[in-house]
Amino acid sequence: MSNKKKIVIIGAGPAGLSLAYYLLCNKKNNISVTVIEKEDAVGGLATGFEHKGLIFDFGSHRLHPTTKEHLLNDIRGILGDDLLDRPRDGRMFLLERFVKFPPQLTDFMFHLPLSFFLGIVGDMLSKPFRRKMKNPRTFSDVLLYGLGKTICTHFYFPYAKKLWGLAPDELSAIQAQRRVSANNIGKIIMKVLSVIPIFRKKGAGRFFYPRKGFCQIFDGFAEKIKAMGGRILLSHELKSIDPGEKVIVAKQDITIPYDLAFSTIPIPDFIGACKGKKPDAVLQACKNVKYRGMLFCYLILNTQQFTRFDAHYFPQENVLFSRLSEPKNYSASTLPEGITGLCAEIPCEVGGTLWKEKPDKIASLVIHSLRQVGLPVDGLVAESFLKRTAFAYPSYDLDFEQRIETIETYLDTLIDIVFLGRQALFVHDNTHHTIEMGYCAADCLSHQGEWDKEKWNSYRKEFKEHVVED
Ligand SMILES: Cc1cc2nc3c(=O)[nH]c(=O)nc-3n(C[C@H](O)[C@H](O)[C@H](O)COP(=O)(O)OP(=O)(O)OC[C@H]3O[C@@H](n4cnc5c(N)ncnc54)[C@H](O)[C@@H]3O)c2cc1C
Repeated sequence: MSNKKKIVIIGAGPAGLSLAYYLLCNKKNNISVTVIEKEDAVGGLATGFEHKGLIFDFGSHRLHPTTKEHLLNDIRGILGDDLLDRPRDGRMFLLERFVKFPPQLTDFMFHLPLSFFLGIVGDMLSKPFRRKMKNPRTFSDVLLYGLGKTICTHFYFPYAKKLWGLAPDELSAIQAQRRVSANNIGKIIMKVLSVIPIFRKKGAGRFFYPRKGFCQIFDGFAEKIKAMGGRILLSHELKSIDPGEKVIVAKQDITIPYDLAFSTIPIPDFIGACKGKKPDAVLQACKNVKYRGMLFCYLILNTQQFTRFDAHYFPQENVLFSRLSEPKNYSASTLPEGITGLCAEIPCEVGGTLWKEKPDKIASLVIHSLRQVGLPVDGLVAESFLKRTAFAYPSYDLDFEQRIETIETYLDTLIDIVFLGRQALFVHDNTHHTIEMGYCAADCLSHQGEWDKEKWNSYRKEFKEHVVED
């Protein structure tokens, strides 16, 4: 009988896979690693698929240039020349016209109505006279103070409502602090000025993208994990976890004992599967934790390229989708010839009207919205299909912090179970943040297999500083 420490990781998304990979790279003689995943493929939200030779992601996915160098080096090591360094080429629909995204100085000055430009200038000049709240409570408190009315009214407020389903004064201030990277005029100015080389941060205006789709990173991690002796059990949804007996039961009725378990799955799903009595306050908090769902409507078009842009952003409430991407443009692929694909991201309430709508109806609504914004696909659509996720974004309403604290206090009592990643920590973090979480978690396990909780808690504090990139 092997006396290796048995590590079980729940979820084969970026957090779970990077944890398994880094553990095996560094401690492979002392541990055994099993990853269980409910889907039949790895990658979580960052997964992808092929259809008619076209490669698709779940919405627009790019690896941001702010990815830490050591993570990037590992990803480069796995993908080699397949990790492309690409220029961003996106547009947003603002005031009935398209402008560059992220915005450029010339757009503000020449391509948008003069009243908008003057409004922004007025908001800049009046900033010193705006009252700064000591403890801003809402999304609108933070952004109205930081940015002023003009950009909030035309972009951030409608976009927030669309993405998270709540009005700006129903959303927590933390949503603005963590999720809006340019949340004050100074940061906006730096973004706008980044067209000028001396103001440009390293990597600004660029992104990394794997030649065969975003999930190539995670397929690569998975291959390495298996080559180092790790197990990845696909289609093995967590059914139950018994923290007393230290046993996990996965969907195929397979029983997996563990010494240390890591969960990267949504909090309600974990708590639902966890054996033992839970305090009523925890169950109540768990019931009220909200994740925003998303529909992905894919259109296959009979044309080589639809537009030259990688993504289009739509803050308007009357346009069905928040973003439209053309995956071929992410990797600059010309293949397959004669067709291209689009992916429309439609944030929605899980179980709501849109969520239940038939795929054909959703496709016709997407086509209608495309016509509305001047991007008609009439006569080009060869096929459409729909995919969905119930866990696209955590929704930070005004009480979310209290709820999460109640839940985390309970989870903290579960010995030898650690929580990481976007779903388990209820954060908006990017892929590179969640990969980093996996590496940090691996760093907290000693070569003798002891878990260093103090070190993990200090990493958790660092994670709170993550600011999400678009
Ligand atoms: C529309 C959209 C666009 C995005 N674009 C970008 C981008 O451009 N750049 C970027 O850096 N980030 C982007 N992100 C964020 C990125 O997708 C996430 O940060 C990343 O996928 C989080 O990884 P994770 O492992 O923490 O969670 P997840 O990816 O959610 O992985 C969790 C895994 O757990 C599995 N699981 C769930 N329940 C169970 C269960 N009961 N049993 C077993 N397994 C289970 C899931 O199937 C999944 O594989 C985007 C996200 C969305 C929604």
